[in-house]
Amino acid sequence: MKPSQHELTKSEWENSELFKNTTHLFHHAARKMNLDPNIEERLKWPKRAIVVSVPVRLDDLTIKTFIGYRVQHNMTLGPAKGGIRYHPDVDLSETTALAMLMTFKCSVVGLPLGGAKGGVRCDPTAMSRNELQRLTRRYTSEISNFIGPTKDVPAPDIGTDQQTMAWMMDTYSQEVGFAIPDVVTGKPIEIGGSLGRTDATGRGVVYALMEAAKYLDIALDENINVVVQGFGKVGNSAARKIEKIGCKVVAISDVSGGIYNKKGLNLDALEKYVKDNGTMKGSPDGDFVTNEEILELPCHILVPAAISNQITEKNASRIQCKIIAEGANGPTTFEADQILHDKNVFTIPDIVANAGGVTVSYFEWVQGIQKLFWSEKEVNNRLWNIMSDAFRRVVQTAEELKVDMRTASYITSLRKLSRAMLWRGFFP
Ligand code: GLU
Repeated sequence: MKPSQHELTKSEWENSELFKNTTHLFHHAARKMNLDPNIEERLKWPKRAIVVSVPVRLDDLTIKTFIGYRVQHNMTLGPAKGGIRYHPDVDLSETTALAMLMTFKCSVVGLPLGGAKGGVRCDPTAMSRNELQRLTRRYTSEISNFIGPTKDVPAPDIGTDQQTMAWMMDTYSQEVGFAIPDVVTGKPIEIGGSLGRTDATGRGVVYALMEAAKYLDIALDENINVVVQGFGKVGNSAARKIEKIGCKVVAISDVSGGIYNKKGLNLDALEKYVKDNGTMKGSPDGDFVTNEEILELPCHILVPAAISNQITEKNASRIQCKIIAEGANGPTTFEADQILHDKNVFTIPDIVANAGGVTVSYFEWVQGIQKLFWSEKEVNNRLWNIMSDAFRRVVQTAEELKVDMRTASYITSLRKLSRAMLWRGFFP
């Protein structure tokens, strides 16, 4: 047979920058650790990718059809887990890369879960609440055969929140005939959500930072200036927690750009300004900077907590921080990583730094199954243990194999996953 007849080669799966970058990192790590080539071959592709059309009656009574996805990358370690994204850039390839990142993320922090991601290509900021409800319910219904508490458990991501999860949970439950809260995580508390889930990703970023500072022997105090790209769920909660531990947030941005103030920002005032004006632009709290400029500001710690592909070979040499903690998924490209490594910038890679969200999602799922709920303190303590263990395991791999933190995080993840895959074997 010619290769084109029996091999999965070029497809829509491979088109996005994030897919190219994630697979590049994966193959690089595979080479460094001598990963079994059969395992490497298997993990290149998602287990399953579902594409659905989502017809929605808009408020003007016309029907518009959106395109939705759910990609399950790997389910060796347990049910697939990963968020649902509502964003104009959602496509099959990006969703697949994000699903792959979830597989590696769950494995590196030691959760008994596989990796998935889903989304609908839409602009949720331009849609009414009713339109979003209809979109969510129809999308859920279209993928309902493939999700479930023991199969695949969605959660919030960019453009979705606890209300989205409540609609998903309700739609799925209506179809089954009784309440199945464990089909999603990131739910409101009243229907089975976990305390501490909303700010878990941001909190986890800071827990990872605290471990990194300990490792690098840096005191996290008022002399440490932090720049945060992103003022959404992750950026906002990370910034607040950074302030709480005594560091100074000197710049933060949303999609419209950011605000820089050397003396430190007043996050409450900024949040109010954004609420009143819909944008950060024009805030009197500091100087306006673009989303490109914010990454290059002088600071000790940079937290990219917006979207992917922000730190690339074009701007990496101008980055001035000592530590990068990746709140977003895939904010740094493979080429940029090499430049940053040469500049001695210490990176806490996304699959470790932002794993707090999926970790507390896992706690929510566990609490739901046992119908016994924990205090916020218990959730946070358990989160701390998982984040600090994961960080230390990755540092240990980095030291052992003399590789950068990103490669070490993939290797740590792949060591566990590949052993599990070999135990189970390939079917048939
Ligand atoms: N969307 C989040 C992530 O990218 C959370 C996923 C989850 O909780 O399942 O990690």
